[in-house]
Amino acid sequence: MKSITKYLTFHTEKRFKLINITQQIEEIVQQSNINEGICLINSMHITSSIFINDDEKGLHLDFEKWLQKLAPHLPIEQYLHNDTGEDNADAHLKRQIMGRETIVAITGGKLDFGPWEQIFYGEFDGLRNKKVLVKVIGE
Ligand code: ZN
Repeated sequence: MKSITKYLTFHTEKRFKLINITQQIEEIVQQSNINEGICLINSMHITSSIFINDDEKGLHLDFEKWLQKLAPHLPIEQYLHNDTGEDNADAHLKRQIMGRETIVAITGGKLDFGPWEQIFYGEFDGLRNKKVLVKVIGE
């Protein structure tokens, strides 16, 4: 069995941002020379997510609107977590619903997606460096 492990770093200029990282993951799969296997991609932070969905601008605005309605950033006093002196309780909640990781099958050396599937990094508490782990295993 072969494996490769990589760490990607993201630093967004806004608190909330969705980034298509499919190309970066494809490059890692190519470097791995793995033909049949699986690729795990997970956020290493509890205020950001990895998820799969459509790369469609309207949908991304819908995600943002929906998440801000479920867990608005302000007023920060509405969350007990923020009593610790932090202000990111909303980002922890957004991360929980959007997920920690995704796993994609590798078939014939390529990410084996369904139609329209793309991989996204979801940042909910940006303005600082955040890491994403990518591990490819197989043969
Ligand atoms: Zn926190």
